[in-house]
Amino acid sequence: MIAFENVTKRYANNQVAVNAINLEIKKGEFFVIIGPSGCGKTTLLKMINRLIALSDGTIRINGKRISDYNIHELRWNIGYVLQQIALFPHMTIAENIAVVPEMKKWSAAQIQQRVQALLDMVGLEPDKYSKRRPNELSGGEQQRVGVVRALAADPEIILMDEPFSALDPISRTKLQDDLLELQRAIQKTIVFVSHDMQEALKLGDRICVMREGEIVQIGTPQDLIHHPVNDFVQQFIGVKDYPSNEFHIQQVIEPLEEGQSLHALNYSVTTNDSLPFILQQLAQHECVGVKNETDIIGIITRQSMLQFLAAERGDTND
Ligand code: ADP
Ligand code: MG
Repeated sequence: MIAFENVTKRYANNQVAVNAINLEIKKGEFFVIIGPSGCGKTTLLKMINRLIALSDGTIRINGKRISDYNIHELRWNIGYVLQQIALFPHMTIAENIAVVPEMKKWSAAQIQQRVQALLDMVGLEPDKYSKRRPNELSGGEQQRVGVVRALAADPEIILMDEPFSALDPISRTKLQDDLLELQRAIQKTIVFVSHDMQEALKLGDRICVMREGEIVQIGTPQDLIHHPVNDFVQQFIGVKDYPSNEFHIQQVIEPLEEGQSLHALNYSVTTNDSLPFILQQLAQHECVGVKNETDIIGIITRQSMLQFLAAERGDTND
């Protein structure tokens, strides 16, 4: 879907920000690019929609070189969400979302319908929010609008550059959860830049770890946790001593008891989630449900997790 072939970016000062990158992002994939500040994440992302020109190599989207696309067509078909909330302050929420559909000359009725559907999708009541201006929304709500604005004209690809890093931890977690749920429904190709490994492990189908303009490792969250290629990845993940996740889940899962089902349903993890992610959920909730593909199959309580971790470290209670 998005193919990088030997892509290099040299800035004017001759600094190599991205060095001979080869990479293929698949259709419908949630692809996270992660690495320390200055490693070239934003540069890599912005080359996809030609906000930054390549110095060398080729990027293709659906087999066609990005340089062969009409620039407007390319940009309109790639949604883009920035770290800093970037809504137009003088325009209403509805007008902000409608920017690209307007440029694409959709009908007024079609645009209105789309705006309503998108606001509904992220839990912002259209009647209440459409006519408001950005400064009448919280930071989290504004960034929600930023996300649906990128989806407005139904692009195939969405680029997100640390979209939640300016938010408080609670809003960030909520928006991550909502984005995951949204992605299950829309199945777009998402390229998401992050500097937070917990976020990357939570969101990514695959994660690309970068360092100094180069790719260190590409893999699923499981690959990175269990088979980090080197100390850099291992330290970045910070969970080097954890054994397999399946093993963990089985160790801590408890059968569902009567009266607990509702609570468990509100906050759930899956049998594929990483231990760091489960710990993060348990930091916020006394207990979480565990789902397989479709069903709640049990719960994990804070208590059972603490016992497990203590046993793991060889601690005793006396
Ligand atoms: P990241 O998003 O991972 O923090 P960037 O892609 O923004 O990294 O930057 C990669 C490197 O390129 C950094 O060393 C940065 O200082 C440099 N850089 C970024 N933009 C420019 C620019 N316009 N001119 C010169 N150097 C730049
Ligand atoms: Mg950046």
